[in-house]
Amino acid sequence: MSTPDTTTADPTGLLVIGASQAGVQLAISLRALGFEEPITLLGDEDHRPYQRPALSKEFLQDKVDKENLIFRSNDYWAEHGVALVNGERITAVDKNDDGSGVAHAASGTKFPFRRLALAVGARARRMDIEGGNLAGVVYLRNADDALHLKEIVGPASDVVVVGGGFIGLEAAASLQGMGKNVTVLEYGPRLVGRAVGEETAEFFLDAHRARGLDIHLNARISRMVDGGTGAVSGVELEDGTVLGAQIVLIGIGVIPNTELAEQMGLAVDNGIVVDANALASDGTTVAVGDVANIPNPLPGAPAGERLRLESVNNAIEHAKVAAYSLMGHREDYAGIPWFWSNQADLKLQIAGLSMGFDQTVVRRVEERGKFTVLYYRDGHIIAADCVNAPLDFMAVKNALGKGQNIPSNAAADPAVQLKTLTTDPADATRLEGAS
Ligand code: FAD
Ligand code: NAP
Repeated sequence: MSTPDTTTADPTGLLVIGASQAGVQLAISLRALGFEEPITLLGDEDHRPYQRPALSKEFLQDKVDKENLIFRSNDYWAEHGVALVNGERITAVDKNDDGSGVAHAASGTKFPFRRLALAVGARARRMDIEGGNLAGVVYLRNADDALHLKEIVGPASDVVVVGGGFIGLEAAASLQGMGKNVTVLEYGPRLVGRAVGEETAEFFLDAHRARGLDIHLNARISRMVDGGTGAVSGVELEDGTVLGAQIVLIGIGVIPNTELAEQMGLAVDNGIVVDANALASDGTTVAVGDVANIPNPLPGAPAGERLRLESVNNAIEHAKVAAYSLMGHREDYAGIPWFWSNQADLKLQIAGLSMGFDQTVVRRVEERGKFTVLYYRDGHIIAADCVNAPLDFMAVKNALGKGQNIPSNAAADPAVQLKTLTTDPADATRLEGAS
C-alpha cells in the first residue's frame, strides 16, 4: 500500500475514487482543461493504474509485460499535481450539500474533498455453485486475477471457460493459442448475446469452432468437480457429462459497484444514475465509466432512454464530459459508441448500438476472413459489427457521426466501399427510393 498523503487530499480539491480507465482520464482531462485544484486519484488495487484490455489477450499470453499496461509514469502524475493513492478502499462517504465531504478508507485514513468523482467501475459476477470456491476456479477482472491465472496456467492442459461473452471468448482464444484444450460453456442459445446480433454470433461460433474451440451453447452446469485435493478437476453438466479441467475461468458478466453511491443516497438503477453531464442525482458528485447509468448518447436516441456501457471508449469519452462538468461547463455526453474485441486473428470492431434494429445486411469476403453486419432501423443505418474489416467500421462510424445513411440496397456487395454509398441526411432516402 502506498502511504496516503492526506495533505494533498485537500478539502479544496477533487477526490476521484477509482483509479482505472475512467478515473485516470478524468484527472488527465481536468488538467488539460486548466483545473487548478489538487486532485487525488485513489484506488483500492495494489498497482499503479493500468489498462485492462490486454489482461485477456497479450498480457495473458506473455506478449506484453505489466509495465506496458501502466497508463502514465509516476513523473507524469507528479508533474501534473495528481496525488496517486494505491491500495486504499473507501468504505463510506460523508457528503455535505455543497458537494464537499470526507471519504473513509478501510484503513482508517480519511480523505477530505471539495468535489467527489465516483469512477468505481464494476466487478466480476460470481457464480454461486457447488465447488465454486475450489482452487483453479478463477475470474478475470483485474491485474491480480490475471497474475494468478498466469501463475497457474503453465501445467494445465484443459481449461473450461464459462460464459461466451467478450471475456470468455477473448480468454478462450488466448488460452488456445497457448496450446491448451479449451471448452466454452455458454448458458444462452448463442455467443456474445448482449453485444452482437445473430449473424455475428453465428460467424464467431463457426470461426472459433474452425480454429479448434469446443463450444457448447445452452450449457447447464450443475457443479464444479473436486479433484479430491481442494482443486477443481472438471465441470459437471446437468446431463451428467463431466468435462475435465484443471482451470475453470468464469466470465459471466459484471455488477456495477454502486454500494458507495447507495450509502450516499444517490439514485441507483443498474449503475449510478447520471444526467447528460455525468452528474449524479445530488447535482454535485460526478460518476463515470462502467458504473454510470447514462442517457443514451447516440444522437437522435429516444428521449429518456438509458443504458450502461462497459467499454474503454465510453470510459474515456464519459470522463471528458465529467471533466467539463467539474469545470462548471456543460457539455452533453453525445457521440457514437464503439467497441473492439480481439479474439485470436478475429478483430471485431463495433460502431453504434444495434438495439432496436429491424433489418440487417451482411457483407462477406470469405477468402479474406472479412465479415460485416450492418444494422438498420426504419431504413437508416444504426450500427455495424465488422470483423477484420476496418474500412467498413470507419465508414459506418463516420456516417453515424455525421448523421448520414448508408442505404441498405447497395450495401451487401463487398466489392463496393461503404464510404462511397453515404448519403446526406436530406437525401437519406434517395437510393432507397431508386431501388
Ligand atoms: P474499472 O476499470 O472497473 O475501474 C474501477 C476501479 O475502481 C477499479 O480499480 C476498482 O478496484 C476501483 N474501486 C472500486 N471500488 C472502490 C472503492 N470503494 N475504493 C477504492 N477503489 C475502488 N473494453 C474495451 O473497450 N475493449 C477491450 O478490448 C476490453 N478488454 C477487456 C479485457 C478485460 C480482461 C477486462 C476485465 C475488461 C476489458 N474491457 C475492454 C472493459 C474495460 O476495461 C472497462 O470498460 C473499463 O476498464 C472501465 O473503466 P472504469 O474506470 O469505469 O472501471
Ligand atoms: P458479458 O459480455 O456480459 O458476457 C457474459 C456471458 O456469459 C454472456 O454471454 C452470458 O450469457 C453468459 N452467461 C451468463 N451466466 C452464465 C452461466 N451461468 N453459465 C454460462 N454462461 C453464462 O460479460 P463478460 O464477457 O464476463 O465481460 C465482463 C466485462 O468485461 C464486460 O463489461 C465486458 O464488456 C468487459 N470486456 C470487454 C471486452 C471488450 O470490449 N473487448 C473484453 C473483455 C471484457 P447470456 O447473455 O445469455 O446471459
